[in-house]
Amino acid sequence: NEEKRKYVKGKKLGEGTYAIVYKGHLRTDPTQLFAIKKIKLNAEYKDGLSMDAIREVKFLQELSHPNIIPLHSVFSTRDQNLNLVLEFLPLGDLEVLIRDPDVNYSIADIKAWVGMLTRAVWFCHANGVLHRDIKPNNLLIAADGEVKLADFGLARAFADPQQNMTYNVITRWYRPPELFFKARHYSGAVDMWSVGTVFAELILRMPFMAGNTDIHQLELICQAIGTPLEDNWPGVSELEGYLPFDKDKITPVRTRADYMSTFPTIGSVGVELLMSMLVLDPQKRATAKEVLEHRWWAEQPRPTEKERLPRKA
Ligand code: ADP
Repeated sequence: NEEKRKYVKGKKLGEGTYAIVYKGHLRTDPTQLFAIKKIKLNAEYKDGLSMDAIREVKFLQELSHPNIIPLHSVFSTRDQNLNLVLEFLPLGDLEVLIRDPDVNYSIADIKAWVGMLTRAVWFCHANGVLHRDIKPNNLLIAADGEVKLADFGLARAFADPQQNMTYNVITRWYRPPELFFKARHYSGAVDMWSVGTVFAELILRMPFMAGNTDIHQLELICQAIGTPLEDNWPGVSELEGYLPFDKDKITPVRTRADYMSTFPTIGSVGVELLMSMLVLDPQKRATAKEVLEHRWWAEQPRPTEKERLPRKA
């Protein structure tokens, strides 16, 4: 395979749930570094990837944006594994910065990071691609400070081809309520909920709603955001996975004052923007474009320039 021969695979960098990542370089130029991500294919794909999945990955290769990790090449190996050749980004991810007590960051820094994330999401949605696994650990940091969203569209490329849309996507803490109710037809709004939860986590420096199980996650959403009901989300009770809530356990949708006390540092305009992403009804949730047009970006403090953003200590 010609594409495979272009790269030399080096040491293992790490292992995730569905991939092993190796350091790699160009055979003709060892200074050109890459991360080679070898996807562990499940039984579904043991006879090779479907043409649809390959077509989808080829399409992702064409998407080029400063806040999306470039996919340089795709090749398969003897054992039918799929290898993705990505830009090498060794400076860690947003999760590392959030968790490191020696790293200090400001509202201006959060503004820069959430802006970069939202621009990545806007670009992909404009091209008809959903991410479906946005979380701090998928936001890698480049040498110039740019935040780059990893694994865009891969959830879909490797989704179960038997189902038109699978609801078992997105790491639980960042997953929107419609997926717990097994919505079959969902939209970019799923990613926008995740953007809202990442925004909240950057402010709090801890996950906003860290459920231990799916049921627990839904309880946390009810407590922190409000109980999904027909009056705040028309049609919700018709979703396959909807369970009626006990009348005495219903929490009204949280008000701006509630959010102001949970997120006192971002101001009322920032709170308004955060609330627009954490809307229960996906149809009423802000789109990436709406978020980018919000007046919070123009308000003081202005977003930090990427070169001046905090780094791993
Ligand atoms: P995880 O969900 O644990 O992040 P991944 O499969 O995405 O799983 O990545 C595994 C590890 O490989 C990461 O923790 C990171 O250390 C490393 N890694 C992933 N992508 C890159 C990259 N583009 N550049 C450098 N290192 C990477």
